[in-house]
This record gives sequence, C-alpha cells and structure tokens, in this order.
Amino acid sequence: QTNILFIKGLIILFLSLLAIKLNLCFFSFPLSSKTICLDGHLSFANNEFAASDFGNRYHYLPLAVLHPQSVSDISKIIKHVWKMGPESGLKVAARGHGHSLQGQSQADRGIVINMESLRTPEMQVHTGEFPYVDVSAGELWINILHKTLKYGLAPKSWTDYLHLTVGGTLSNAGISGQAFRHGPQICNVQQLQVITGKGEVLTCSEKQNSELFHGVLGGLGQFGIITRARISLQPAPELVKWIRVLYSDFATFSRDQEYLISAGETFDYIEGFVIKNRPNLINSWKASFDPQDPAGASNFKSDGKLLFCLELAKNFNPDKTDIIYQEIKSLLSQLSYTPSTLFMSEVSYVQFLDRVHTSELKLRPQGLWDIPHPWLNLLVPQSKIKTFAQEAFGNILTDTSNGPVIIYPVNKSKWNNRTSLVLPEEEIIYLVAFLSHAVPSATGTDAVEQILDRNQRILDFCKAAHLSVKQYLPHYHKQEQWRGHFGRHWDTFIKRKSTYDPLAILAPGHRIFPTKI
Ligand code: FAD
Repeated sequence: QTNILFIKGLIILFLSLLAIKLNLCFFSFPLSSKTICLDGHLSFANNEFAASDFGNRYHYLPLAVLHPQSVSDISKIIKHVWKMGPESGLKVAARGHGHSLQGQSQADRGIVINMESLRTPEMQVHTGEFPYVDVSAGELWINILHKTLKYGLAPKSWTDYLHLTVGGTLSNAGISGQAFRHGPQICNVQQLQVITGKGEVLTCSEKQNSELFHGVLGGLGQFGIITRARISLQPAPELVKWIRVLYSDFATFSRDQEYLISAGETFDYIEGFVIKNRPNLINSWKASFDPQDPAGASNFKSDGKLLFCLELAKNFNPDKTDIIYQEIKSLLSQLSYTPSTLFMSEVSYVQFLDRVHTSELKLRPQGLWDIPHPWLNLLVPQSKIKTFAQEAFGNILTDTSNGPVIIYPVNKSKWNNRTSLVLPEEEIIYLVAFLSHAVPSATGTDAVEQILDRNQRILDFCKAAHLSVKQYLPHYHKQEQWRGHFGRHWDTFIKRKSTYDPLAILAPGHRIFPTKI
C-alpha cells in the first residue's frame, strides 16, 4: 500500500514538475487547484553533480534539481511537496557548494535545490557604526570577502576554506582561527530569511521568530532553507603576518594555545596542527615562510617525530609595520616553542584567508582534490585533551602524510548557547580535525577503508575513555545515535522539527528524521 502511494506520488510529482520545467503555469492536479509558475527552472537530466560532494563516498541521484531565480520558487516547490503529504515520501535538500562529506546535501529520488543559482538579493554592504552585509544564502564566502573589501570591511569570523556557501556553513557552525575572539560564523549573523518545511517565508533574528533563528543556526538544514543572511562586518586589514612555530611536547603546545586565546593582547587568528613522521618538513615550508634562524632551522629534523605546530596570524595595515613587529616579538617572547623553528611570512589579507584554495589549485591538476575524503571532526573538552592527544596522536595516528590534523582551542563564552549546535559542556573546547584524503593505492589496498578504520578506533577510544567528545559536522546512520549526539538538547531539536518541518521534508541526507514527526 505504502509503495503504491509512493509510486503514485512520484508520477504525480514528475508530471507536475515537468509542467513547471516547460514553464507552464499549471494546475498541480489532483493535489490542489493552485497554479505554479517558476522564475527559475527544474532539470530532470544531467543531475549527477547533485549526487556528489567533497567527501566523494555517498552518491544519491535526485529526481529533479531546482535552479531557483527567486525566493518564491523555493517556497512554491516546498509548498507543493507539503501538500502532497507524507505518503509521497518526497524529500527536499538545499545544496550549497556541495562540500559536505557524507551526502548531507543530497536527496535520494527527491528534489535538490541548487542554492547557488539564487542570486537575489544582490549583495548589499551597509557601512556605519555597526556595518553588515545582506547576502543570498547561496553566496560563496570568497565573493563576500571581495565585495566587502571594496568598502574596507570584512566579516569577522571565517572557515579555513572560503569556497563554501553562507547557507552551508551556517547550517553547521563555521569555525576557524578567529572563533576564540568572535565565536563561529553562526554567532555573527544578525538576521535570516528562512523558508520552513511548510513553505512559509519568515524573517527571523534574536528578537523576531527567535526560536526559528536559533534553530536554523547549526541546525543541519532541518528546520528551513536559509535564503538570505545579514552578516556583521568590521574594518578589514590589508596585510597579515603569518607565523608558524614548532613544539615537541603536547602539554607545552596546548598550554601556549590556551594562554593565547585568553590573553587580552593577542593574535587575530590562532590554530595549530599535528605533524607525525614528515621528513623534510622544514624544506617544504621554506617556499612560503622565512625561517628566523636559518642555520638552526636547517639543522632541525622532523623525520620520525611527533610535532605540534602553532599557527598564528596578526592583521595590520602598511603604516603600522614597525609597531606590529614589536607586538609580535613581545607576544612570541611569552611562548615556549623550539627556538630554531620560528617561521614568518607576510601576505595580503585575501591571500591569507583564501590559503586553502591555493592548495586546491595545486592538487586539482594532480587529481588529488576530487578523491574520497573520509574526514573526522571532533570537539574535545579541555579537561580531556591530554588523554585524547596521548592515544589519538601518540598511538592511533601513524603519520600525517594523507592530510592535515588540525587542533586548536576555542573559548565557549563567545558562543550563543541557544543555537542548534551541540558542544561539550566545558568553557574551553578543542576542535580536532582529521582531514584525510584517500589516494588510490598502487598496491590495491583500500585507502578509504584504512582511514575509516582509524577514525573508528579514535571514536571507540573516546567512548571507552568517557571523553564526552562531540562530533562536529556530525554523521550518524540511526536516529538513536542522533539522540545520543544531541543529549539533553534532543527534546528541543524534536520540538523545533515538529514546529517547522513536521513532515520531515527537509535535509534528508543527515538521516535524522526518516519519517514525519
Ligand atoms: P553543502 O555541502 O551544500 O550543504 C551542507 C548542509 O547544509 C546540507 O545539509 C545542506 O542541505 C544544508 N544547506 C546548504 N545550504 C543551505 C541553506 N541555504 N539553508 C539550509 N540548509 C542548507 N567547516 C568549518 O566550520 N570550518 C572550516 O574551516 C572548514 N573548512 C573546510 C574546508 C574544506 C576544504 C571543506 C570541503 C569543508 C570545510 N568545512 C569547514 C566544512 C563546511 O563548512 C561544511 O561542509 C559546509 O556545509 C559546506 O558548505 P556547502 O556550501 O558546500 O554546503
């Protein structure tokens, strides 16, 4: 019975959508008597792009892709699906830049909304005492950077990679080396326009429809499709001093990181990464960074070692070059890194923020960008980070040749605790990201399986040692596991779902709500 209804639903949807594609304003028979016309269009063929993502491990082909030209296009399609009722089983996924890792922006035999084709409203920068920019949620952060810089302004909080959409990062959090000071991107948004799972178009903020506003931020696309966002700005610098120093002892490294994120006078960006067994590390850095002690640096050996790199940046304008150098010297003098391993570089603000794209441009021609990425991102409470590091970096991780392992602390007091993002219950938490890529092996061994196996060992250890770790960019297969992830926030999550998307139409790729609430 359910299957027949489902197939009937699909046929009706197919015919209805075909009519829309042909730009016929039509009676969406026999579901309602409403006429639907679109400013954009639907495509039923060549939709393979919507069945792939950066993770490159999950591939679900949708029935149709909507390329919206207006907010009302999205609203009309969702209302249409809503009116078909739960029997149709149809789902709708917003796709930003498709840089998810496990099919989160895909919809198996459903409808994918290609958010990048929504170009309205045009980006508008508002200057003044509290500047902000209004953007379409399908906008890439790199475009926002270029636009706002024309006004001498820029957003406050970033991700390490800027070729991601506003809707995509706000559905997660958007965390990078500025988050210790400004909080993640979800804490730097003043207002959103959202289309709920019933097709209603609502404006929300801290004061207006605040439950929806907080729900959508970090809400994994579960409560609505973000169509517009108002993002806070600040004056932008022109230049950046970009610094790397090395430690061989984790306790000293993390102590310095924690000192820097809490200090009054500090850097503008604070991250770090783990290096294990990387021969010729210093040589590979020399192309972009100047060693401050060239002789000492050339004697430094990274082979076979477990090292920790503190990565820092200080923003400045050209008229402040001398002052900034003194400030950096004074800050560095308070740290306990290995003295011969101080490396510095001076780059433009855009070069610094867009640094991962520079790597992308090198990796693409070698076929090393579009390969599987079995990533694991964790949020580890401060009190457990040493235990975690000892086992994960000391024992489980064998080397860091197949992708960076990033680690840095953030101060939770800067984060809004009403959003849907779940965090460990401590004031300081560490983001630990195992950003592995699976290069096909000449020996035929399955690189993906090996990395997944390593990730699972790390997760198993966290569970067995009761480290109270949370996944960031979480991925689970069963609702029971999601319930565990949200913990005491699960009831709020369910309540928001039943208010804004009771038929569970939206964002099926997370597999949180396979059926209606
Ligand atoms: P998609 O993959 O297209 O979508 C992601 C999820 O959001 C899906 O569930 C989708 O349905 C939903 N969604 C998309 N658009 C909307 C919308 N408008 N409204 C509602 N829901 C929507 N994250 C960090 O926090 N910090 C980093 O430094 C960082 N670096 C990264 C570097 C790289 C190279 C990559 C590939 C990812 C990185 N990420 C980082 C993760 C990234 O923020 C997320 O994967 C993000 O979701 C990708 O954005 P996207 O536009 O590609 O979204």
